[in-house]
Amino acid sequence: MEKVISFIGLGNMGAPMLKSLLKAGYHVKVYNRTPEKARDVVTAGAELVENLADVAVPGGIVITMVSNDQALEEVTMGDEGFGQKLGEGGVHLSMSTVSPDTSRKLAEFHHQHNSHYVASPVFGRPDAAAAQKLFILSSGPNEAKERVKPFQEAMGQRVFDLGEEPGNANVIKLGGNFMIMAAMEAMAESFNLAEKNGIDRQVAAEVYASTLFNCTVYNGYGSMIANRKFEPAGFQLELGLKDCNLVLEEANAKQAPMPFASLLHDSLLASVAKGRGKHDWSALTRIASENAGLE
Ligand code: NAP
Repeated sequence: MEKVISFIGLGNMGAPMLKSLLKAGYHVKVYNRTPEKARDVVTAGAELVENLADVAVPGGIVITMVSNDQALEEVTMGDEGFGQKLGEGGVHLSMSTVSPDTSRKLAEFHHQHNSHYVASPVFGRPDAAAAQKLFILSSGPNEAKERVKPFQEAMGQRVFDLGEEPGNANVIKLGGNFMIMAAMEAMAESFNLAEKNGIDRQVAAEVYASTLFNCTVYNGYGSMIANRKFEPAGFQLELGLKDCNLVLEEANAKQAPMPFASLLHDSLLASVAKGRGKHDWSALTRIASENAGLE
C-alpha cells in the first residue's frame, strides 16, 4: 500500500481533507502558500515542506485543493511549481473546482512530463470533509484513477467515475454548483413571500425541508437563509462567483443557454460589490430580500 502522499492547499476544505488522510494512516507532506496555517495539521502529524518545488515525491501522488484555476496553474506549471518534479508515473489528483479547459490543459502538461492528471472536484462543505462524507468525482486515465482511489475513499463517502476525458468531472461539478445556487435563490424568494405574509421564515424552511425538499441542500442551507446567518463562511461568496463565471463560460462555449445562471451571476456580483465576498455564498440571497424591501 502506498503510504506517502503530497498535499497542496490548506483552506477551509484542504485542512479537513488532509486530516482524513492522516486518520487513514498516510504520511502527508504538505505545502501551503501561508505556512502559518499549517500549524494545526502539523500538530496532527503532517510534514510541512517550505518550498513548493520540494513537495512532490518523484513518481508519487500530489493532491491539490487551491482556490481557483489561476492558483492551480501556478502551483502546477509555474517556475517553482511541483509539476516538473512529479516525474515519470506520478499522478496529480486535482480536487479544486476549476474549468474543464483548465483540466484539459493540465492533463496535456502532465502527459508531456510522463505523469498523469485526474480531475476530482468534490461535493460537500468543510463539515462533510471533516466527517469523510464528501462525494468525489473522478475523470482521467483509468490506471491513474485506480491508483488514487484509496485516497479518495479516505476523504469521501462515494467516488463517481466519469470516464477518461479529463474535463468531465469538472462539467458535472459546475452543473451541481449551479443547481445549489438556483435552490438557494428559490428558497430565499419563497421565504420572503412567507415573511411578507407574516409567516415565520424558519417555519417555512422547516415545512419545505421536511416535505417535498427533504435533501442535503435544502436542509443545509434552509436555516442559514431563513435566519439570514451568513458568517462564518463555509464556502466564500467570491468563490461562488468564480464558479458561476465558470458555468457561464462553459455554457457559452457549448451554446447551452443557462439564463438562470446569468441572473444568479448578477446577484453574486452585486453581493461582492456590496462587500460580501468573504461571507458564505448563501448571502447571495440578501439581494432578493433587499429587492423585497425586507432588509
Ligand atoms: P479557501 O479556504 O479560500 O482556501 C484556498 C487555498 O488555496 C488556501 O490554501 C490558499 O493558500 C490556496 N491558494 C490560493 N491562491 C493560491 C496561489 N496563487 N498559490 C498557492 N496557493 C494558493 O478555499 P476552499 O473553500 O478551501 O476551496 C478550495 C477549492 O475547493 C475551491 O476551488 C473551491 O471552489 C472548492 N470547493 C469548496 C467547497 C467549500 O464548501 N468550501 C466545497 C467544494 C469545493 P493561503 O492559505 O496561502 O491563502
